[in-house]
This record gives sequence, structure tokens and C-alpha cells, in this order.
Amino acid sequence: VKNLHNTDVGYYQADLDELARQRRTMVVELSRAIESDQFELHYQVQKHVQTHEVVGYEALVRWRHPERGMVSPMEFIPLAEHSGLIVPLGEHVLRLACRQAAAWPRPYKVAVNVSPVQMLDDSLPRLIEQVLDETGLDPSRLEVEITESTLVADPEHTVRILKAVRSLGVSVALDDFGTGYSTLASLSLFPFDRIKLDKAFLSEIDRSPQAKAIVQAVLTIGKSLNIPVLAEGVEREDQMELLREEGCSEAQGYLLGRPAPTITIPDVVVPLRLV
Ligand code: C2E
Ligand code: CA
Ligand code: CA
Ligand code: CA
Repeated sequence: VKNLHNTDVGYYQADLDELARQRRTMVVELSRAIESDQFELHYQVQKHVQTHEVVGYEALVRWRHPERGMVSPMEFIPLAEHSGLIVPLGEHVLRLACRQAAAWPRPYKVAVNVSPVQMLDDSLPRLIEQVLDETGLDPSRLEVEITESTLVADPEHTVRILKAVRSLGVSVALDDFGTGYSTLASLSLFPFDRIKLDKAFLSEIDRSPQAKAIVQAVLTIGKSLNIPVLAEGVEREDQMELLREEGCSEAQGYLLGRPAPTITIPDVVVPLRLV
């Protein structure tokens, strides 16, 4: 097989076919995985930078595939989004997170990621209200995390949905801040309860003066808008030290705790599997 440039693309085409086949298989498996209960949530702690108090836990979905073991969300979330399966999956995650958090022995907040695809219609606020009623979780304990891309697609529609979510008493965080195309515009469109600074900036902070300047600038914006900034991806003590010096309010990352199927409260490990 030759392409326009007269080079051989035979193998390349075969690889693409194989890739497409694998994707189709995975979509079929994904659609069955919800019913057969193959998804679980791991929780990663979010802490106050100054006091080390727990702010809440972010729920991160995991797929326990019968043959392939634990599959990363980086692999299946994009597929779930393309196929539309993220809608039932997102509902499942929301319900599971609220049910488990309602059973925690401490009233920590639980943060749930919401895909842009889940915002395409108007159903999200009603779903959230229903799940809160059903699980008895206090609305103030739920936070939804959305990315900038959600706002860019259709700002008016998204803002309307976010306002409806907020009116339930649920808070809204802006995830992966700084990685989109209209970072600052997003902040002027909706009064977010929290800014989550993307981990890309923190990982460069000691090597790149630019990254450090951006972190400082985002913290300044947070202060002027009176929105707490949570730094993602804190892996080392020197990064934590810098965040403390710069007055960052909250942090999340491997240094503070890895995502785990259980939450830890002082001296007690809560076996969520039993919930
Ligand atoms: P995210 O929302 O930005 O979540 C944070 C990711 O960073 C998680 O990856 C977490 O394990 C990882 N992480 C946490 N601390 C550190 C650190 O110190 N260093 C580094 N290098 N990484 C750290 P994970 O669990 O693989 O999730 C990847 C992405 O998949 C998430 O990024 C989110 O966009 C998506 N995702 C996960 N769960 C859900 C879900 O339930 N629904 C939706 N729509 N998306 C989800
Ligand atoms: Ca997130
Ligand atoms: Ca109600
Ligand atoms: Ca993030």
C-alpha cells in the first residue's frame, strides 16, 4: 500500500485497523462493565496547606477489567466520552461517590469529576438533586469538578447548568486550571468555588521561572477574586514549602496521599468496600 508521498503505509494501516478493533471491543466491554459492577472509586485527599487539615477527597474512577486488571481512566474516559457511555458511567460514579461519602465517619467533602459530555443537555442538576435525596448526602459536602473546555463549548448553556447545580447547595470547582485556551475568560463567566491549578505548573516549579511566575499569578488572581486555589500534583516537600510561602490555600498530590479505595481518618482506616 502506498500513500500520496509514495511511501509504504501497509503496516501503518494494519496498526490503525487493529487499534480501531481494540477500541470497538473496549466500548462493548465498557457498556457491560457498569451492570457487572466493574467500576470502583479511589479517593485522593485534599488538604489545607497551612494546617494540613483535610478539605475533602476527590473521587477517581477505576475500571477493574476481568482480564486486563486495573485500567486507567486516561484510557477509558476518552472512549466513554466519544461513545456517549460517559453519561451512564458518570451517573454511576456520582451515585457511588455520594453513597460512600454519606457513610464516612467524618463529614468530609467529596469532589466528583463531570465530563463536558454530561453537560450537553439540561439533565445534570436534576440528577444531582435526585442522587442527593436518595443517598442523604448533605449538598454542601458535594463538589463537582469541571474543566474549562466545558465552558468554551457553549458558555451560556453551561453557566445556566452550573447556576442550577449551585442553587442546590453544591459547590463547583474549575479543574486543570491553566491548560485550556480561555483560562481567564472562564473565571469571568462563573463564580467558581475553587480553582484547581493543573499539576503541569507544579512539576516545573523548581526548574522553570515561568512556571513559578504562573503559579504566583494564579494565586494572586485567586486572592483578588476571593476563590481558594488548590494546587494539584504536589509530589515533593519543596513544592509544599513553596506553596506555603506563596500563600496557596489547598493542595493535593502523592506527597499528601495517593488515591486509595479507602479514606484515612486519624488512626482509623475506613473499609469502604463494606459500604
Ligand atoms: P484529574 O481530574 O486531573 O485527576 C487528577 C489525576 O492526577 C489523577 O489521575 C490522580 O491520580 C493524578 N495525581 C494525583 N496526585 C498526583 C501527583 O502528585 N503526581 C502526578 N503525576 N499525578 C497525580 P487518574 O486517577 O489517572 O485520573 C486521570 C483523569 O481521568 C482525571 O484527571 C480526570 O480527568 C479523569 N477522571 C478520573 N475519574 C473520573 C470520573 O469519575 N469522571 C470523569 N469524567 N473523569 C474522570
Ligand atoms: Ca479532577
Ligand atoms: Ca431535594
Ligand atoms: Ca485536575
